[in-house]
Amino acid sequence: MTGETTALGIAAAIRSGERSAVDVIDAHLAAIEAAEPTIHAFNTVTADEARAAAAAVDRALASGQPVGPLAGVPVAVKDNLCTDGVATTCSSKILEGWVPPYDATVVTRLAAAGAITVGKTNLDEFAMGSSTENSAFGPTRNPVDTDRVPGGSSGGSAAAVAAGFAPISLGSDTGGSIRQPAAFCGVVGVKPTYGTVSRYGLIAFASSLDQVGPFANTVADAAALLEVIAGHDPADATSIPQPAPSIVEHLDDGVQGLRVGLITELMGEGIHPEVAARVRESAEALAAAGAIVEEVSVPAVTFGLSAYYLIAPAEASSNLARFDGVRYGLRVEAATTNEMMVATRTAGFGPEVKRRIMLGTYALSAGYYDAFYGKAQKVRTLICRDFAAAYERFDVLLSPATPTTAFELGAIADPLTMYLNDICTIPSNLAGDAAMSIPFGTDAGGLPVGVQVLAPSLGEVPMFRAAAAIEAAAPTTGKDA
Ligand code: GLN
Repeated sequence: MTGETTALGIAAAIRSGERSAVDVIDAHLAAIEAAEPTIHAFNTVTADEARAAAAAVDRALASGQPVGPLAGVPVAVKDNLCTDGVATTCSSKILEGWVPPYDATVVTRLAAAGAITVGKTNLDEFAMGSSTENSAFGPTRNPVDTDRVPGGSSGGSAAAVAAGFAPISLGSDTGGSIRQPAAFCGVVGVKPTYGTVSRYGLIAFASSLDQVGPFANTVADAAALLEVIAGHDPADATSIPQPAPSIVEHLDDGVQGLRVGLITELMGEGIHPEVAARVRESAEALAAAGAIVEEVSVPAVTFGLSAYYLIAPAEASSNLARFDGVRYGLRVEAATTNEMMVATRTAGFGPEVKRRIMLGTYALSAGYYDAFYGKAQKVRTLICRDFAAAYERFDVLLSPATPTTAFELGAIADPLTMYLNDICTIPSNLAGDAAMSIPFGTDAGGLPVGVQVLAPSLGEVPMFRAAAAIEAAAPTTGKDA
C-alpha cells in the first residue's frame, strides 16, 4: 500500500508540505465524481464543506499552528452518525428531511484530529442487513466487482475505502456490520470492545450490541483512527471511563509467543472451503512468525445467531418506537394521532425494518418474553462464559470473518439466508468483545477473503499485533500491484 492511499501517508505528506490538504481533497472528490455513479457509496457528498475544511488546514499549517494527527485526511462517515447541519438518514424514508442539530462524538473527534468528512455513506436501512440492499436509496456496489454486494450494513463505508473515495471511514457494528463488509471489499474493519468508542450521536439499533469502528486500507491506519475516536465520553453512559488505548506503538511488537486459538466451530459446516483455506494459511503464517497456534472449541458460538435475532430485534423494536411522525422526519397526515403514527411508520419503514420490529415486539410480549427474550439472554451468558474459558488459554482467537466471499446483487432473497452471513461475527457483539477483519488473499475468482481476529474485552493491543502479522504475511493481490 503506497503513502498515497494510506491515511498516515497522506497526513505525513500534508504535514511536511509535500501536498496541500486542498490538493488531497480535490483528488478524492475527483475520484468520487468519476466512480460514484457506479458504486453509490454515499447518500450525501459534502464537497463544499470538505474543500473549506481543507483550505482551513492549509492555512493553519502555513501560519505554523498545531494540527491534529489526521489533518487533511479525507474520511467517509456512515449515515447513521449524526452530523450537525448535514442530513442523516439511516438510509430510511422515515428520516426524510431531518437534519441533526449536533455532531456525534466520533464526528467531533474526527474534526478535532483534523480529518475532513467527504460525505455520509449508504447503509442497510437502520443498519439492518448484510448487503446494503436494504437501503431506501438503492444498493451500493462492491468496487472489487460491481456485480456483487459490498456487504452490510456499513457497505457504503467499506466501498468508499475500497474505491479510493477516502482512505478511512467509520461504520457501526451490531452483529458484524463493519467486519463483514470489510471482508467483502478487501479492507480492514474493526469492531472495538463495547464501551471503547462513544455512541453519542449514533442512531441506535440494538444498544447492548452497537459499537462504532474504523475501516481502512491498512492495519496501521485502522489503529490510528481508533485511537482518535476512542476514549471516555460522559455523554454515553456505556462509555468505559478510560482513555483511548495506545495501539499504534505496539504494531511492530510481533507475535512471538502470542497464543492464538483457531475456533473449531467456525471452520467447518457452512464455511466455504476456500475461505477456510485462507484462514488456515493465515494461522500458519502466525505460527511461522512465532505465535503458538492451536485449535480451540468455543461450543456456544453456534447459538449466537439464534440469540442475536431475538435480542437485536427486541432492542430495535424499542429504539425505533421514537420514529412516530412527531419528533423526526417524515409525517403522513391522518385524521387522528394514532392513524398518523400508523400511516407514517407504514410509509417510512422498509420491509426488513418492519420485520425486525415485529420479531422484537413478539419476543418481548407478555407470555413469550421468558421463552424467547429471556432464553436468548441466557444463551448470551453461555457465549460469554465459553469465550472467557478460551481466553484463559489464548490471547486472541481466529476465524473467518464471513462464511463466503461477496455474493451477487439480488442473489439472496430469503431473510434467513441473509442472516447466516453473520455467524462468525455475531458472537463477539454478544460478548461485548473486540474483533476485526483483515484481508488475506482471495478465492479462485479473485474475491477478497477476510480473516477475523477476536480478542477479549479491552484486548485491542494483542488483537492489532496479530492483525499486523496477518497483514504482513498476506498474499499480494491485484490491489497492491
Ligand atoms: N447483519 C446484521 C443484522 O442485520 C448485523 C447488522 C449490524 O451489525 N448493524 O442485524
